[in-house]
Amino acid sequence: MPSNRVRATIVGSLPRPIWLAPPGELIKEWRLSGDALHEAREDAVRLWVDQRSRTGLDVVTDGEQRRQHYIWGFFQGLKGIDTVRLAMRTQRDGRYHKEIAAARLIAEPEWRGPVFLDALRAALAMTDRPVKVTLPGPMTIVDTLVDQVGGRSEERLAMRFAELLNHEARALADAGAAVIQFDEPCFNVFVDKVKDWGIAALERAAQGVNAAKAVHICYGYGSEAVKRWKASNTDWTHYHHTLPLLAKSSIDQVSVETAASGVDIAVLETLRGKDVLLGAVEVCTDTVETPEEVAARLRAVLRHVDPGHLFACTDCGMVPRSRAAASGKMRALVAGAALVNGELA
Ligand code: ZN
Repeated sequence: MPSNRVRATIVGSLPRPIWLAPPGELIKEWRLSGDALHEAREDAVRLWVDQRSRTGLDVVTDGEQRRQHYIWGFFQGLKGIDTVRLAMRTQRDGRYHKEIAAARLIAEPEWRGPVFLDALRAALAMTDRPVKVTLPGPMTIVDTLVDQVGGRSEERLAMRFAELLNHEARALADAGAAVIQFDEPCFNVFVDKVKDWGIAALERAAQGVNAAKAVHICYGYGSEAVKRWKASNTDWTHYHHTLPLLAKSSIDQVSVETAASGVDIAVLETLRGKDVLLGAVEVCTDTVETPEEVAARLRAVLRHVDPGHLFACTDCGMVPRSRAAASGKMRALVAGAALVNGELA
């Protein structure tokens, strides 16, 4: 997607309408079932796709309206994972919660065919804009499961999931997805593992995929637990370890969180030549940024990122936010990018 102007997009998820599911990042129960649920989810996708096309985002997603959760949505399409009877485990090194209820790996994981193909086709039919599909990254998957099969290292299990993700990513790209994005919040937690096998697993997942290949690395959803951790955190150097490794990889786009973190944006210099999806709006508050605030964040990185490689983006998914806030933040991204483009012209 060559360009000489700053573009706008979002990480992926958007809040579900309140008539579809109670607010929250993980849906415990949909409000509807059967045909009514199917139709309601289609309507929710249409609502967001229409709105984003009108708002002027350059790349759209289906807002993950069909998924119970950004990771479980993929698990539920695979063989070998139980997302009903859960088990407790530490995730993300215990950064946000001591332990959390997790899906269980109960048999060899297998890809039974495309999980998100129908969702992609529906979104493509609703818009002329490029469509991005998000998938959980291999490292984040293994950190989110209780492995009750056992017998292999975390690295080998991640490589197994990378193979399954690769089948999915290829199928989605071949069906017309413009961008395949792997969500790897764990890259900001386990920087040693990223170097040892995380990048290799990501590369395996993205291998031969006929679309722009993206990775999203953040400090978590805008939940209360994440906010508490951020308020006490003093070390924001994780990208200094991971971005130089990604610079040498085949990944085309890197989505980073900068609005609600203490990250030194000079680190983005490392990614010169790749697309940078800059977190220019926060996702931990419903307060909507002004276009001027977004523009200021974009201007600040133009020393390190060429405008044609820069996207105004959210810090993370917006699923915990209100609909009004999510809509306002998307408008601010588009308007902020337009302000900067006006200056560049
Ligand atoms: Zn995120």
